Amino acid sequence: MKSVDAHLADILATVRPLAPLELELERALGTTLAEEVTAPLPLPPFDNSAMDGYAVRAADIAEVPVTLPVIDDVAAGSDELRAVGPGHAVRIMTGAPVPAGADTVVPVEWTDGGTASVTIERTTGPGNAIRRAGEDVQAGEVVLAPGTAIGPAQLGIIAGVGRRRVWVRPRPRVVVLATGAELVEPGLPLGPGQIWDSNSFTLTAAVRETGAEGFRADTVGDDPAAFLDQLDAQLVRADAVITSGGVSMGAYEPVKEALGPLGTVRFEKVAMQPGMPQGFGVVGEDRVPIFALPGNPVSSYVSFMLFVRPALRKMCGLPAGPPETETAHVIGALRSPQGRRSFLRGTLASDGTVSPVRGQGSHQLAALASANALIVVPEDVTEVPSGTAVEVIRL
Ligand code: AMP
Ligand code: MG
Repeated sequence: MKSVDAHLADILATVRPLAPLELELERALGTTLAEEVTAPLPLPPFDNSAMDGYAVRAADIAEVPVTLPVIDDVAAGSDELRAVGPGHAVRIMTGAPVPAGADTVVPVEWTDGGTASVTIERTTGPGNAIRRAGEDVQAGEVVLAPGTAIGPAQLGIIAGVGRRRVWVRPRPRVVVLATGAELVEPGLPLGPGQIWDSNSFTLTAAVRETGAEGFRADTVGDDPAAFLDQLDAQLVRADAVITSGGVSMGAYEPVKEALGPLGTVRFEKVAMQPGMPQGFGVVGEDRVPIFALPGNPVSSYVSFMLFVRPALRKMCGLPAGPPETETAHVIGALRSPQGRRSFLRGTLASDGTVSPVRGQGSHQLAALASANALIVVPEDVTEVPSGTAVEVIRL
């Protein structure tokens, strides 16, 4: 059997970051920056007031209280500024440019708030409440490096340096295609031998949570030809495809039967539990990566976390590797098969303990939904006594 690490390494060696494209800022949230963003001007571009108050000369307010005539009123956005001469004050608002002559700002709270003249009760030295030009960023300075994940604040600074469009690696478009003759769309009645399709919902959501765009295709039954037709139809909009089901050792394994002969997708046994049967490769002219995951709901989700999530991160242009783990102390004894890495479903508590949930079968989706972590048991460990330190992956 192939190791979990070797399987992930093969996958990461195959997938590539998506080609950059230029997007309007409104569409760039959740993408990855593919250029260096620099500031064409200093930020702030000019000295401006940090508070509502009065711009004065510090020398004029050395002795307080003092009353000064107010010779002008400057709001944010004002461009016609009268210089502040000796003994004068200018009423100034937050963000407004500091007029020539003034070297400090007195907050309105320290004054009587007058508009014709103002009485200042408290003194301060030069430079009070003034935001200096270039204090945030100098002209020409790099504000964001390539590879930065673009969230709200990153979008803000791109706009803040005056950019309308930006070069990014887009969010990968990922089609999720569940297979199984037994599957029924949730909301419709079940016939004998049928179950509601859940994997396509889990996997599409997991794709979106990773920062890619998930498209849930209509499920197909167990006919390899029908599967290939649906795959063909979906490939036009896919940067990657995830399938569920139809990859095991039984009969009626449409994914394996359809993709196996292509020669570009390998079906292997990976030394893990749940999720041993795994398919991975590329399909179509554009060599679109395809992840053929097992059908058991827990297996498919665990496989997503271990293999697909890192691959999608790499496609996004983000650092990609095995899921991060942390150490916890297990409450209760664990068992694990020899030679396979186990990912047991557990509840991680804030005190650093983790307890396995009841129901560790790979079909036990409700148990998975009650868990918040996977407890990792290494290949060569078969028994873990209560109290042992274990590695866990947060879900
Ligand atoms: P398979 O990998 O196709 O052999 O399926 C393994 C098990 O997972 C079977 O019990 C299937 O009924 C179940 N299964 C397969 N696909 C889904 C799905 N989309 N939603 C829920 N269960 C599924
Ligand atoms: Mg099946």
